[in-house]
Amino acid sequence: MADLLTHEEYKAIAASLELPNNAWIDGAYRPAISAKTLDTVNPATGRVIGTIAACDKADVDFAVGKAREAFEDGRWSRLHPGARKDVLVELSKLITRNARELAVMESLDSGKTIYDCENVDVPETAHVIKWHGELIDKIYDQVSPASNDHIAMVVREPVGVVGLVIPWNFPLLMLAWKIGPALAAGCSVVVKPAAETSLTGLRVAELAAEAGLPRGVLNIVTGTGAQAGEALGRHPDVDMVSFTGSTATGRRFLNYSAESNLKEVVLELGGKNPCIVLDDAEDLDAVAAHVVNGAFWNMGQNCSAASRLIVQKGIKDKLIAKVKEHAREWIVGEPLNPEVRVGALISKGHFDKVCRYLKMAAAEKLLMGGKMVAEGFIEPTIVEVAARDAALVREEVFGPLLTVITVATFEEAIAVANDTEYGLAASIFSANGKRALRGARMLRAGTVTVNSFGEGDITTPFGGYKQSGFGGRDNSIHAHDQYTQLKTIWVDLTDNSDTGID
Ligand code: NAP
Ligand code: MG
Repeated sequence: MADLLTHEEYKAIAASLELPNNAWIDGAYRPAISAKTLDTVNPATGRVIGTIAACDKADVDFAVGKAREAFEDGRWSRLHPGARKDVLVELSKLITRNARELAVMESLDSGKTIYDCENVDVPETAHVIKWHGELIDKIYDQVSPASNDHIAMVVREPVGVVGLVIPWNFPLLMLAWKIGPALAAGCSVVVKPAAETSLTGLRVAELAAEAGLPRGVLNIVTGTGAQAGEALGRHPDVDMVSFTGSTATGRRFLNYSAESNLKEVVLELGGKNPCIVLDDAEDLDAVAAHVVNGAFWNMGQNCSAASRLIVQKGIKDKLIAKVKEHAREWIVGEPLNPEVRVGALISKGHFDKVCRYLKMAAAEKLLMGGKMVAEGFIEPTIVEVAARDAALVREEVFGPLLTVITVATFEEAIAVANDTEYGLAASIFSANGKRALRGARMLRAGTVTVNSFGEGDITTPFGGYKQSGFGGRDNSIHAHDQYTQLKTIWVDLTDNSDTGID
């Protein structure tokens, strides 16, 4: 756990921060070619705290051109993997050295709690970048089992110029999940952060330059999805796009690819993740702590949020009592207050969307909460819903709202859990290890946690089944598959000296 400061001390740091306000292209801060800007807002106050460059197609063209130049001349793509490692490890150290500034900037820009920024977002960002850096000079290529007359090498090569489009819920961490393996592999990248949360990514790009990353290799093109995002998705000289965001936008990227150069597309999308608690679950205090963390962490603005609690009826009342007890400890309030666990939702638009779901919850059996605390802030809310096709059961709310569904049997629990178009994450709690593992195998999700809520860690692949994902995985050694392509080099060893052919 990080050594936290007081609320007053965090406010003083926030007041003294210098916020980046230009895009980062070819190793320098630059305004948009159009000179247009967008306001950037502190979600906790609704106040404008700065501006970012409103980049459009012209800026994307410029950035992709610089990324291509860098890729082709080999200033990074053909460096010894050990040299790439050194730069990424140095970047990780610089992130750690600037951790406090980054944590406060992240909290200000996104409404996330300083508690999470200090304990999770910033240290994990440094860790992820270091992990991929340290991996890259330890991966071997392959030789295929060909005949004695041939040697067939299967070598990995960086895919080229990569577009990375990321959401606002984990601005630093999603950046790290993508640039860690992409840069380690030798790609040049153009990042399109969410317009609402572009500040920390810009600062990381500046730190990367300080760490020795050559210019043009990491570019951050700020602006809206409709302008900068679509231009990147349709760019004819981008070899691959890795996208994290909503399922609807993910679908668009497949279209952009189909209608342009058939660039590879990897999608990490939404979720409506089930958390099953069976009658025989042990240590309900621990279970409740996991349930609350799964549902309310990051205000529920989490693709892997455990937003459906599927509980067997024998244990329901006891469990709900414990969950409420734990949820009450999650204080809602000013994100820079280190005591606060539930900060501000990302924007007015998103807040209004979550409030519409609160209205639906009010018409159901409300077990806890259900109210806004102030504009932008919503208290942890728990609602029991009987209809299996209700919006609260089916749709990703992306807010601090937990839907409880009661079931009679293990089989029904699994069937309800799988009855969704999503398949990102799932959890199952049971003291019967065999049953829990059987459940884990039956759940159609990319990550299943047993007797815990979580996402695994950097060593485990993360991504979705069904409409939660497409084309690849983030995290672990498998993330490198996104950013590399395989080449076969086939060598004929036949001795043709007596035929005169050679
Ligand atoms: P989003 O609206 O899909 O936005 C994601 C990114 O795409 C942003 O940078 C956005 O830019 C850009 N974008 C929006 N419209 C676009 C368009 N027409 N063309 C090109 N780019 C476009 O998603 P969000 O609301 O920010 O994020 C929440 C979603 O992300 C949730 O569904 C959540 O489940 C998902 N998520 C998934 C994972 C995972 O790993 N599976 C992780 C985190 C979040 P602007 O916002 O700047 O316009
Ligand atoms: Mg902001």
